[in-house]
Amino acid sequence: MKALRYLNPGELKTEQIESTGCCAGEALVRVHAAGIRGSDMAIFGGKHPRAKPPLVMGHEFAGEIVEIQAGGVETELSIGDKVTAYPLLMCGNCWACRNGVSHVCRDLKLIGIDRDGAFAEYVSVPLDLLVKFPDPLSFDQGALVEPLAVGVHALDMAGPPEWTSAVVIGCGPIGLLVALCLQHAGVHNLLISDIVPQRLERAASLNIPVLNNAEENLVERVARMSGGEGADIVFECAGSASSALQMGDLVRPRGKIIMVSVHKEPHPVDLREITFKEISMIGTRVYTRDDYRKALQIIADMPHEKIISHRVNLDQGVAGFDIMGNADDACKVIIKASK
Ligand SMILES: [Zn+2]
Repeated sequence: MKALRYLNPGELKTEQIESTGCCAGEALVRVHAAGIRGSDMAIFGGKHPRAKPPLVMGHEFAGEIVEIQAGGVETELSIGDKVTAYPLLMCGNCWACRNGVSHVCRDLKLIGIDRDGAFAEYVSVPLDLLVKFPDPLSFDQGALVEPLAVGVHALDMAGPPEWTSAVVIGCGPIGLLVALCLQHAGVHNLLISDIVPQRLERAASLNIPVLNNAEENLVERVARMSGGEGADIVFECAGSASSALQMGDLVRPRGKIIMVSVHKEPHPVDLREITFKEISMIGTRVYTRDDYRKALQIIADMPHEKIISHRVNLDQGVAGFDIMGNADDACKVIIKASK
């Protein structure tokens, strides 16, 4: 089968590889759409601690089942079903796994990082990870369920919305999806910030209030939108040193900071703000199965055509990574694996 493989840091190639087929307890999925994620960019750059070449990346995807090897596993899935996948692989033994929060498993692994993923014509997936979705949803929508679930999880971790004003720092795909989840939840005193004008234009076209952090003072604008107190809640989706340092200034006393991005290295945080204002800072990682189900329920309400900025085929996979890494107008880049 044809696959886009990570061969070395900075080296990707679309090539013919032998399909591993599907093992017992798994289904073979013909991939129709797979999104490129920030973590895929980190792998490509040689900066991911676990990913080892050669590797087929891709963990946000949708396709149709072409083969099932039940191997004694009970399943209601059938050949031809449209599916996406909850791509987390847990150890089953650690504290998190034993206490109902296996998405923060001590030894968490992912399809597309720790085993071959979906930037290929076919991917084999354990049956219990496949999530069937109804026919009216397109494969592109199916591939967006996974990143949307990150936003759903961030809101879930924020707790009941006793808060009405929210700031999202960072207008990449995840920041945009968090803002759309906030809109969907009825939070309209909202602001999203970034320094890339094209990203902000995309958010503005979705009626999300925007601020260019390179041109306007974010702290002052947030003070104006919140009667001088600071926002009820801030979602940190940028992963940068400047956002880590700034986030405490944006929150009111007893407000919340929800950490959504993965900071690749330690960044300074103004802990006095956390102390003096009794701010709650909450970490979030991926999503639970429940978040994934909720994301599937609301994906039809999301403006997916505005979230997807580019589509490429498998032969253009290298170009897809180049767009994702360098094009200012890139949001979600989808690889269309099948013809
Ligand atoms: Zn575990």
